[in-house]
Amino acid sequence: MSTADFQPLDSGRVPRFAGPSTFMRLPMVRPEQVDIALVGIPFDSGTTNRPGARHGPREVRNQSSLVRRVHHVSGASPFDLARVGDCGDVPLSPLDLNGSLETISSFFAGVRQAGAKPLSVGGDHLVTLPILRGIVADGPVGLIQIDAHSDTYDEFFGNRYNHGTLFRRAVEEGLLDPKRIVQIGIRGSISDARNYDFAREAGIRIIFIEEFVARGVESVMAEARSIVGQSPTYISFDIDALDPSFAPGTGTPEIGGLTTREAQQMIRALSGLNIVGADLVEVSPPFDPSGMTALTGATLLFELLCVMVGAQAPWYSAAENPGVTTSDSD
Ligand code: MN
Ligand code: MN
Repeated sequence: MSTADFQPLDSGRVPRFAGPSTFMRLPMVRPEQVDIALVGIPFDSGTTNRPGARHGPREVRNQSSLVRRVHHVSGASPFDLARVGDCGDVPLSPLDLNGSLETISSFFAGVRQAGAKPLSVGGDHLVTLPILRGIVADGPVGLIQIDAHSDTYDEFFGNRYNHGTLFRRAVEEGLLDPKRIVQIGIRGSISDARNYDFAREAGIRIIFIEEFVARGVESVMAEARSIVGQSPTYISFDIDALDPSFAPGTGTPEIGGLTTREAQQMIRALSGLNIVGADLVEVSPPFDPSGMTALTGATLLFELLCVMVGAQAPWYSAAENPGVTTSDSD
């Protein structure tokens, strides 16, 4: 089927405040039907302190009704370059952490077997571990992680599987190549001066916010690109990488963070990498009374989608790819 069957609702026919709440007003689909599977993971059982990210997918869907079709920099519509649809939420029990991890990984194994690439909305950051278990089949992949936190602790409360430990587990399980991991935006008080020892000793490149500010987006992203190279790479965006003045709706806010404009520039700089999947995690609507964090998450999701399908590529020509015509006017 062509991309014409996988377009957002035409806002000239169904206004943005109407219609079902799906990611970017796309049709509900099965992974077999699409190239990019948008998936919600309403899970926050991996949260160590302030919960609420289980409500993230629904609110990001709601705010994503404001996302239009065409990226204003490239002039491209990601919906004309790939078949994209909303595959719904992974069905989970909030009372069963271990069972949920198994359900998530088998769901994402199904996405991989269907030939689709996942673009997911959490959920707390632990969801990235079972996503990787589901989609990594041919040896470890690289990772660009934009986050205030390294998430490479060993355990909390004697528990090894939570949103502060997942990248350590992913390295131990051979899902990620630590020499091809870049963490950007790391900051905040830590419980022990040795908290980053595991990451450093494993060869993970940590770019603290201070270095990021000193060097700027272009230099940092050029280094990130060279570390992951052209081998398969996963992108994980924790919304708490942003300054809480932009994104207060998250469980572990840290001041002194990225601006939304920097985040957009960073994602656009991923153009041309070999991206096997991506996620946007830790939007917690109960801490987000204005809805701004969910809107920010929805907009960054669109940026991630554009970069995954080549709608950010410098060689893209809107003139050669006129795409689908709609009566969208807002
Ligand atoms: Mn995180
Ligand atoms: Mn974080």
